[in-house]
Amino acid sequence: MTTLKVIEWPAKVLETKSTDVTEFNAEFQQFVQDMHETMDHAGGIGLAANQVGVAKRVLTIYIPWSGSRYSEQEEKKEHWHDVRYTFVNPVITKREGRIRWQEGCLSFPEIYEFVDRAAEVWVTAQNEKGETFDVHATGLFAVCLQHEIDHIDGIVFINRMSRLKSSLVKKKVAKRHRVLAGAEDVE
Ligand SMILES: [Zn+2]
Repeated sequence: MTTLKVIEWPAKVLETKSTDVTEFNAEFQQFVQDMHETMDHAGGIGLAANQVGVAKRVLTIYIPWSGSRYSEQEEKKEHWHDVRYTFVNPVITKREGRIRWQEGCLSFPEIYEFVDRAAEVWVTAQNEKGETFDVHATGLFAVCLQHEIDHIDGIVFINRMSRLKSSLVKKKVAKRHRVLAGAEDVE
């Protein structure tokens, strides 16, 4: 297994609409395993393939049951906690309600902002072997699925924020890059 490099915004691949996966061969299954390892290693609960530079419609999700570790909004253990999911070519077939969650993103280190999304989504997808399955997602699972499906559509979470909030985030990212560049100069 290999840990892949997580790409940070701004990078063109994060704003690229990904293409369908058509080959479910050993090489693809290895890539999916690497994505899971990369997600775990980075401490994320979801990862889209274009975040590791591959513009294909695949995403991984693993939300450990942890009480309040990820959010104080989590109240009880749901069927989707502690389940390792691979979604290939996912399609949202139905959405219901509204939910506001404070989201983070591995491509935006240290940024946590509230985003509005559908409270429940129904998704049809394939697994890493190409077998079709359906899920009904609620709570953090619904938020995470919509965040990751946005990624493979080339949409990052600042596109879901108000113009004011997204410009504040862009400023924070630019400042972080200046600080990182400055730190390198000192060495
Ligand atoms: Zn993200």
